[in-house]
Amino acid sequence: TKEIRVGIAGYGNLGRGVESAISQNKDMTLVGVFTRREPKDVQLLSEQVPVHKLDEIESFTEDIDVLILCGGSKNDLPEQGPALAKHFTTVDSFDTHAKIPEYFAAVDEVAKEAGTTAIISVGWDPGLFSINRLMGESILPEGETYTFWGKGLSQGHSDAVRRVEGVKAGVQYTLPAEDAINRVRNGEHPELSTKDKHTRECYVVLEEGASADQVRETIVTMPDYFADYDTIVHFITEEELRLDHAKMPHGGFVIRSGNTGKHTDQVIEFSLKLDSNPEFTSSVLVAYARAAYKLQQKGDTGAKTVYDIAPGLLSPKSPAAIRKELL
Ligand code: NDP
Repeated sequence: TKEIRVGIAGYGNLGRGVESAISQNKDMTLVGVFTRREPKDVQLLSEQVPVHKLDEIESFTEDIDVLILCGGSKNDLPEQGPALAKHFTTVDSFDTHAKIPEYFAAVDEVAKEAGTTAIISVGWDPGLFSINRLMGESILPEGETYTFWGKGLSQGHSDAVRRVEGVKAGVQYTLPAEDAINRVRNGEHPELSTKDKHTRECYVVLEEGASADQVRETIVTMPDYFADYDTIVHFITEEELRLDHAKMPHGGFVIRSGNTGKHTDQVIEFSLKLDSNPEFTSSVLVAYARAAYKLQQKGDTGAKTVYDIAPGLLSPKSPAAIRKELL
């Protein structure tokens, strides 16, 4: 059988992650990377693959089976998603939860018209967590679903810390509150606000002469970002920041706690502990690229989400093989 020919549109953290994930999937081959920057300014992990200008991508429609969109959710995908679904079968990780319905509609219209398949909002949240929230409430209709995030590096909160006067550099991790998780696992069905579920931990490098007390106070009282949370601030050296905080870890839990018949303590838990959020997200995108290809081959076109994709389509193995080996 022929390999699935994959293209990457946009080369940042996810783009790099997709490049390395494809090398672990023998039924796929990366045929090109497309960027808005000058191709010569974009350094790939491997030197085997050509980099092209994104605005020339339409001349590659015959060479690419699935295009994986690795642009940012805020500014890139709202434009690139519909524009590229017009010419390619696509997969993306659009993660602005509140805007998914309108993004879906925009991509669906174009994809149906063009006869392409576009799987949107793939990754872990939205993505694998979404599937587990749905399974939880479908299987245990009487119950509660809880999503906890972390330990994870939060880009927005790290930026907020870095903007504080006296801060030279820093990062912020969101941590799930152990106490809240344990209550949920015990089937207590607690009512929890976002603040009850998470704490925030900052690692800060001070500017010379800055007051640690003042910086800590400004951070922990910052409205919207920290004031409503339990926030811990650690002061570290630049060297420590570079050595210990350069990764992009993330993860979390989806827990459904419900009752069936006479039994009140039925708990479903799904968790992820990720050393690299972008590399993991990219691995999910690549598995769904395989599904997008199979659907497109069957003529099942238009926009899809993870809810529309049968799990067997993610596997490179045949339906008979997965029945025998994994069922
Ligand atoms: P990046 O900021 O690394 O990349 C986004 C785009 O920016 C790239 O496609 C690239 O486009 C451009 N870019 C990247 N590096 C540079 C650079 N050095 N100079 C100039 N431009 C650059 O974003 P991520 O890859 O980390 O994340 C992409 C999106 O993935 C996020 O917005 C997030 O919403 C989503 N995501 C979803 C998850 C989920 O679970 N569903 C989980 C994690 C992320 P170009 O090559 O065209 O210049």
